[in-house]
Amino acid sequence: MTVRVVLATHNQHKAREFQEILGDAVPGLEIVAYDGPTPVEDGVDFAANALIKARAAAAATGLPALADDSGICVDVMGGAPGIFSARWAGRHGDAEANLRLLLDQLAEIGDADRGAHFTATLALVGAGPQSEPVVVQGIWPGRIAREARGEHGHGYDPIFIPAGEERTAAELSPDEKNAESHRARAFAAIVPALRDLVSTAG
Ligand code: IMP
Repeated sequence: MTVRVVLATHNQHKAREFQEILGDAVPGLEIVAYDGPTPVEDGVDFAANALIKARAAAAATGLPALADDSGICVDVMGGAPGIFSARWAGRHGDAEANLRLLLDQLAEIGDADRGAHFTATLALVGAGPQSEPVVVQGIWPGRIAREARGEHGHGYDPIFIPAGEERTAAELSPDEKNAESHRARAFAAIVPALRDLVSTAG
């Protein structure tokens, strides 16, 4: 039997990515995209925002719901841009302006103090009437480069150098990134809860 879980994103590409990765790891799981109204993401951290999105999708559909929230956190900036990553330069989704602003803000910061990490939080809610939400986080440690390099990826990838690397995330192949990224780690961490969900329903 198949268990449907709604993914709180309007982005079909994201839904497909989730289905490909999680569908393989969790036989019997079907991820469907949620196309209802989007809630205001006014949580104070990644987990709160992921829960807001997952709860809205579960309430609207009556299905268990999964949502993600992600961003980049710079140590010397106290974890900023953090939940504001997508609109750091003011306009939502302007990746080029966002990374330029971050580079400018770190212009005076030496190599030893450029530590940063990507984080991805996943929230799963409504898996059963009694069940508590499950929230997991994947972290990808590294540092901020001095200038943007690389053509792959998206967002802040051209200025993020993963720990143990000299290349930026945008210079890694998609397979290399997918093997170790924050999202890959978060996916791995949510698999047990999804397997439980499928086995309980089946
Ligand atoms: P979300 O899609 O609302 O979770 O926003 C995440 C934001 O964080 C994106 O707009 C990107 O700026 C940034 N971000 C998250 N994950 C990545 C990544 O893997 N590479 C580059 N930027 C990322």
